[in-house]
Amino acid sequence: MLNLKNITKIYKTSSFEQKALDDVSISFRNNEFVFILGESGSGKTTLLNIIGGLDNSYEGDLIINGKSTKNFKNEDFDSYRNNLLGLVFQNYNLINHLSVLENVELPLKLANVDYKKRKELALLSLKKVNLENYIYKKPNELSGGERQRVAIARAIVNNPKILICDEPTGNLDPKISMEIMEILENVNKDGTTILMVTHDISIVEKFKKRVIALKDGRLVKNYERGYFKREDL
Ligand code: ADP
Ligand code: MG
Repeated sequence: MLNLKNITKIYKTSSFEQKALDDVSISFRNNEFVFILGESGSGKTTLLNIIGGLDNSYEGDLIINGKSTKNFKNEDFDSYRNNLLGLVFQNYNLINHLSVLENVELPLKLANVDYKKRKELALLSLKKVNLENYIYKKPNELSGGERQRVAIARAIVNNPKILICDEPTGNLDPKISMEIMEILENVNKDGTTILMVTHDISIVEKFKKRVIALKDGRLVKNYERGYFKREDL
């Protein structure tokens, strides 16, 4: 479903150039769950930004469902982001003055879904993360794990085909991280491809998914499901 062909990304500032991705080619299949590993600065977030349609200044091609994005217009990227993608970040990125329910409804509001349908879909999504009793709370009344569950509910509310997660358990302790992983597994079982950056090797070992690793902007490992070995990282 997603094909990256010879992607090279260079950040240019007035004083220097930083090659963040160096000729990366990789494909992701429908309904895969993929862990993305790599040291800080290896290019993981840059890769997710490109896949997420948030950055379109790079060399190479991103192919979505067989269609090159080379000639995509802004509207095409908007529609890709709004209809096919969900994003989850380490810091939750919730809006603090909105309730849990309003946060989850937000993507639907932006997509002009009507009030009733919005609430119905948001409640359904909050049920999937076991937060249906928290809907009128504000994010600052929730624990870190609960905030991340709200963020996941918001990301999956329009039933995306791809969920991009940039260190979703990075701020959470091991027990809460497991709860988040179980939720992500269920989202994956419901048919969503999950691409997840993590530093937590114990999660990677426990959940036995496909694993790719970046180093200095290059794709250095690509283990099919079940073949990951901590020793040869
Ligand atoms: P990771 O997520 O693996 O930590 P990033 O993709 O954020 O890595 O960064 C890859 C490289 O690109 C790093 O050397 C980083 O400093 C550089 N970089 C990231 N974003 C920018 C930017 N906006 N401007 C300049 N350099 C950047
Ligand atoms: Mg990063």
